[in-house]
Amino acid sequence: MTPVDLLDLDSLLDDEERQIRSVVRRLVDDRVRPHVAEWYEQGQVPARELAREFGRLGLLGMHLTGYGCAGSTAVAYGLACLELEAGDSGVRSLVSVQGSLAMYAIWRYGSEEQKRRWLPPMATGEAIGCFGLTEPDHGSDPASMATRARRDGDDWLLHGGKMWITNAPVADVAVIWARAEEGVRGFAVPLDAPGVSVREMRRKMSLRASVTGEIALDDVRLPADALLPGAAGLKAPLSCLTEARHGIVWGALGAARDCLETTLGYATTRTQFGRPLAGFQLTQAKLADMAVEWQKGFLLALHLGRLADAGRLRPEQVSVGKLNNVREALAIARQCRTILGANGVSGEYPIMRHANNLESVLTYEGTSEIHQLVIGQRLTGLNAFA
Ligand SMILES: Cc1cc2nc3c(=O)[nH]c(=O)nc-3n(C[C@H](O)[C@H](O)[C@H](O)COP(=O)(O)OP(=O)(O)OC[C@H]3O[C@@H](n4cnc5c(N)ncnc54)[C@H](O)[C@@H]3O)c2cc1C
Repeated sequence: MTPVDLLDLDSLLDDEERQIRSVVRRLVDDRVRPHVAEWYEQGQVPARELAREFGRLGLLGMHLTGYGCAGSTAVAYGLACLELEAGDSGVRSLVSVQGSLAMYAIWRYGSEEQKRRWLPPMATGEAIGCFGLTEPDHGSDPASMATRARRDGDDWLLHGGKMWITNAPVADVAVIWARAEEGVRGFAVPLDAPGVSVREMRRKMSLRASVTGEIALDDVRLPADALLPGAAGLKAPLSCLTEARHGIVWGALGAARDCLETTLGYATTRTQFGRPLAGFQLTQAKLADMAVEWQKGFLLALHLGRLADAGRLRPEQVSVGKLNNVREALAIARQCRTILGANGVSGEYPIMRHANNLESVLTYEGTSEIHQLVIGQRLTGLNAFA
């Protein structure tokens, strides 16, 4: 139970869910919190080391079954994302991209041989994966992607480039989406294949405790078995995004909770005009509104998680969760920032780091506007994308 759990939403979780949450919270307290401000400032994170630690706890591909994956429920996975992101959105991104994007794509669309080759080492964190959909000229509109896959005898040749790819500079394998004659196809591409080059993208002002890269593919020759046989058409990468967005619905609440808890502690101890900041009505109004939004966001996440566990979660429902929870988490982070005054912009406190991180979270995995359009289309039956 945390101070922001006014409604005792904890009572909606079962013992196993609460236990998984405590284990992840402890890991974040021990391994992330003491170092994350430094990682963020340096723009460097020990991704491989963290991946192995997360793998040991079963957090990588946690909601998948077989091949060394933990086979947990969607709700338990969501709670893990929440705790990880209470540490840092970049750290949660490492886990999301590994499990919900790269591993999920191979687990759902790969051949038996691809699953046996990649999933067990990815589950332990020995191998790191990334997911290449976005291109320099094609972000929200992946259907227009320029990366091409063409057959050459039994082989495939991949040509093009991907940008803004989380984990790419430390990854062993990339799931690359490319347009072939018959439509969009997915490939498991070892990043040491000839013709692949990866460049780290530095100078991000957000998600600095996450490594991001650009992948250039210069007529990369791949054997026929690099193709993910089950992935045909854009709906395959979009289904992976639905998985990952569900984790974000929960994760964003973690960043918001950390901001709120930090702010409650600060506002009750800092005095101005002879009384604690928390004693001013204007501060309490802010705190009350933020706590109410947080609780609503948690109920939404839990509802979507339960739908996912019942096998009934639809993509536009995930859009409702991603749109609301990231938007509200960002609003909470910014509001908390005001309560900390100048200290709100200091790296000594986590608030500005969370707020900056949430700017990326608002944009990746479908921008807010794209989720509004998904919801709008569902409401009206009209496609307003183009
Ligand atoms: C830190 C970080 C990590 C990332 N990691 C990955 C990753 O691992 N793999 C990956 O493939 N991608 C990744 N991305 C890329 C991310 O998914 C894209 O940035 C996102 O899809 C938006 O694309 P864009 O940046 O090209 O913006 P654009 O598509 O150019 O959009 C710019 C603005 O225009 C708006 N817009 C676009 N189209 C419409 C429309 N039809 N109607 C109304 N408004 C519209 C958008 O909402 C946005 O506000 C990452 C991005 C960041 C910042």
